[in-house]
Amino acid sequence: MGCNFDITITANSQKEANTKIDLAIEEIERIEHLISSWKPTSQTSKINRNAGIKPVVVDHELFQLIKRSIALSEITDGAFDISFAATNKIWKFNGKEMEMPSKVEIAEFIKAIGYKDIILNNEESSVFLSKKGMKIGFGAIGKGYAADKAKHLLQQHGVLAGIINASGDMNSWGLQPSSIPWKVAIVNPLDVSKNFGLFELKNSAVVTSGNYEKYLTIEGKRYAHIIDPRTGMPTKGILSVTVFAPKAEMADALATAVFVLGDELGISLINQLPKVEAIIVKDDGNLKTSNNINVSTK
Ligand code: ADP
Ligand code: MG
Repeated sequence: MGCNFDITITANSQKEANTKIDLAIEEIERIEHLISSWKPTSQTSKINRNAGIKPVVVDHELFQLIKRSIALSEITDGAFDISFAATNKIWKFNGKEMEMPSKVEIAEFIKAIGYKDIILNNEESSVFLSKKGMKIGFGAIGKGYAADKAKHLLQQHGVLAGIINASGDMNSWGLQPSSIPWKVAIVNPLDVSKNFGLFELKNSAVVTSGNYEKYLTIEGKRYAHIIDPRTGMPTKGILSVTVFAPKAEMADALATAVFVLGDELGISLINQLPKVEAIIVKDDGNLKTSNNINVSTK
């Protein structure tokens, strides 16, 4: 998945815990092999290789993930779009300064983006990227999906409580052995020694997307590794977005979408969704939070 997973569970013995955690790791690896656009042998790579050529029959699981991704594009007005990737890479998110690509290059890039050009066939369980140069990738939702699946598997194996941490994307269930809920601290991206307080996680997920790890700069301005599918440009203005939701998949995708939508539209979207909350840190240091969040900077 291109990230670390830390898995903490309650169990009667260390041995039992290790066996169950191994199952969760296998599950995460299985999903990675299915959905990763980096692995040439994955079904996602097969879809990408056949862009503009022909539909590819895929497992029900991947088909459904793509279907849910398209539904997320619809509710986010296209801000979240798994076809953001396109094959011609015009942006390099290595933390360095680069030159603005030309208007022609950006226009070419946008041409190969568009969730409406992902053609699904339910009967055949096939996926067709109808334009040449199109490409899909689950960088903004895959971690959350894998965490949800690992959690589900552990629950099926009788694990009563746990917390899965996919590089800061936290997904929990049950209570700690001391019978208190799991708590997570949301770090202030402007000063990582400070946080916005502790939040209880009760059978739910919290995901943070931030531009402090993968970014680029153009003329000294910092851009996050999240692309606005509508303009082809990387996003700026927001430092981090934290989203609370019942499922990690939803939280993951929405955190990315809010980056693209910006703080105003982003928060109004979050406020319309039941059981979803968000904290946005803008690059001027100001915070914007959804209706039911109270934060204090410590
Ligand atoms: P993080 O890596 O900080 O957890 P995200 O969950 O927001 O961040 O995922 C960012 C990744 O999502 C990018 O590296 C890229 O692979 C992919 N991506 C970029 N822009 C979009 C977009 N508009 N919609 C969907 N996925 C995107
Ligand atoms: Mg995301």
